[in-house]
Amino acid sequence: MSFTVDILTIFPEMFDAVLDASLTGKARKKGLIAVHAHNLRRWTEDRHQTTDDYPYGGGAGMVMKVEPFHRAVTDLKQADPRPCRVILMTPQGALFDHATAERLSKEERLVILCGRYEGYDERVRLLADEEISLGDYVLTGGELAAMVVVDAVTRLVPGVVGDEASTRHDSHAHGLLEHPHYTRPAEYEGMRVPDILLEGHHAKIEAWRRRESIIRTARRRPDLLAGADLTDNERVLAERIVRGEERT
Ligand code: SAM
Repeated sequence: MSFTVDILTIFPEMFDAVLDASLTGKARKKGLIAVHAHNLRRWTEDRHQTTDDYPYGGGAGMVMKVEPFHRAVTDLKQADPRPCRVILMTPQGALFDHATAERLSKEERLVILCGRYEGYDERVRLLADEEISLGDYVLTGGELAAMVVVDAVTRLVPGVVGDEASTRHDSHAHGLLEHPHYTRPAEYEGMRVPDILLEGHHAKIEAWRRRESIIRTARRRPDLLAGADLTDNERVLAERIVRGEERT
C-alpha cells in the first residue's frame, strides 16, 4: 500500500490545487502516495455541523471541539489497520525541519490535524503522537502548515522525485546548503557561468560544488555548521569564512 496521509480540516477545498499540482499530483496518480483532505464536519452530529465553541472561562475567539477530532481519528484508524502517526499542527509544536521530514517519510501513514480560531480544546492534543510548528509565527489555520509538511515529506518518499540524487543533495539533507546552480545560456548580460561547470570534468565539478556548498553555508547559515559532516580541512575553511578571513 502506498504512503498515506489523511488530513482533518474544516477547509478541505484549500488542498485541491496543491495536491493535484506538479510532483505531488503525479505521485498521487501513479499511486505512490495517497493524500486525502477530509472535512472534519463529517464527524459532527448536530444539524449545524459545529466544530468549534466558546472557550470555558471566557475570552476572545472560538476553540476547536474535541469530539469531531476524536471520532475522526478513531474512524480513520479503524479504516486502515496500518500503524499511523497522528500530527497536530500548532505554533506551540516542535519546529519542522529536514530531519523531521525524513523521519516522517519512513512512516506508512500520517494523520494531520489542522486547527483554526484560537486553536484546539486541550484534549485534542491527547490524540496526537507529536505536535509540529512551521515557525515562530501564527497562521490563521493549520492548513498551509499541513501542506508544507505533506510536500516536504512526500518528496522524500521513494519514487516521488524521479531523480533521487536531487533530494540527496538538497539543502539541509546533509546539514549544508546546496551549491549554486546554472543553466543555459553560458553568458547572460556579462554574467558568466563558472568555467569549471563548462569543462565537463566530473570530479572537479563535484569538488567545486562541495566547496561552494560549504562557503554558502558558512556565509548564510553558520549556525548549521556545528551539525554538518565536514572533514578537518573543510571545517578550517568554513571557520575562516565565518571569521571573514577567507576571500573567495
Ligand atoms: N492561539 C493559538 C496559539 O497561540 O498557540 C494559535 C491559533 S492559530 C490562529 C489557529 C491554528 O493555526 C492553530 O491551531 C494551528 O493549527 C495553526 N497554526 C498557526 N500557526 C501555526 C504554525 N506556526 N505552525 C503550525 N500550525 C500553525
